[in-house]
Amino acid sequence: MALVKPLDGKNPIKLSDHDPDYHNGLIETDAIARSAKLLEELRELQALMYAAQETSVLVVLQGMDTAGKDGAIGHVMTGLNPQSCRVASFKVPTAIEAGHDFLWRIHQQTPQLGSLTIFNRSHYEDVLVTRVHQLVPPKVWKGRYSQIRNFEDLLVDNSTIILKFFIHISKDEQKERLLAREQDATKSWKLSVGDWHEREYWDKYQKAYQDALNETSVPHAPWYIVPSNHKWFRNLVIAEALVNALSPYRKSWMKHLELEGTKAKAELDAMRASETQK
Ligand code: AMP
Ligand code: MG
Repeated sequence: MALVKPLDGKNPIKLSDHDPDYHNGLIETDAIARSAKLLEELRELQALMYAAQETSVLVVLQGMDTAGKDGAIGHVMTGLNPQSCRVASFKVPTAIEAGHDFLWRIHQQTPQLGSLTIFNRSHYEDVLVTRVHQLVPPKVWKGRYSQIRNFEDLLVDNSTIILKFFIHISKDEQKERLLAREQDATKSWKLSVGDWHEREYWDKYQKAYQDALNETSVPHAPWYIVPSNHKWFRNLVIAEALVNALSPYRKSWMKHLELEGTKAKAELDAMRASETQK
């Protein structure tokens, strides 16, 4: 049984029913050991996917400030071959980006066949920060849910596997992490007054996240609500979800490789045969 079930959108969820402290009774050392094994498996799957060139993977990471998007990326990427994975980070849109539809900059960063891309923030900011700060009228952000669903359908129809993770922390945990950053010279570069201002909008963000999760979870592009007050549990949940999502493709990728291998060998045999005749 998976630690966290992907949301299929059939039953509406309430974020307040999901405890950010949850860790399934696991202890940190066991979770770290399990994560390490899963990351090994993920690397193997990544290599197969790269070789087969049939599928790509898009991982969307969203969460409140300090939730641990950077930490989750660091963890997942340690297991992967840099050859076929990358991170795309989305900040406040530039003037050129803002002059296009909100998916324009996103589409340019989607993964090509054989590779995995992690979105550090994403098109979902356009129904989150944009809504909370009333950067566009309600009619505009409401219209974006179906635009996002259609966009993700397009990617899935073109062989992209999509996994979306909401890195879920509590408001108290955020406060602790913000204060801890002030005490740690290696983290204080991340400090920003803006984080404390954003914190005042906590409830509005939670509502915006809840609506986005309910509006855009479908079996082929599910959200996972990742309990993330414990970083080691967050990492384990993400590693497990990735392995569970990619494992079903293993057979197809292997078959593809075997076919390619047979073809290449036949070509070599033909070449050698023609050389011996010379
Ligand atoms: P960080 O991830 O801490 O570097 O911050 C990036 C900032 O860019 C966050 O405050 C996001 O809310 C903001 N951002 C990202 N995408 C958008 C968007 N489409 N519209 C407005 N703000 C955005
Ligand atoms: Mg920030």
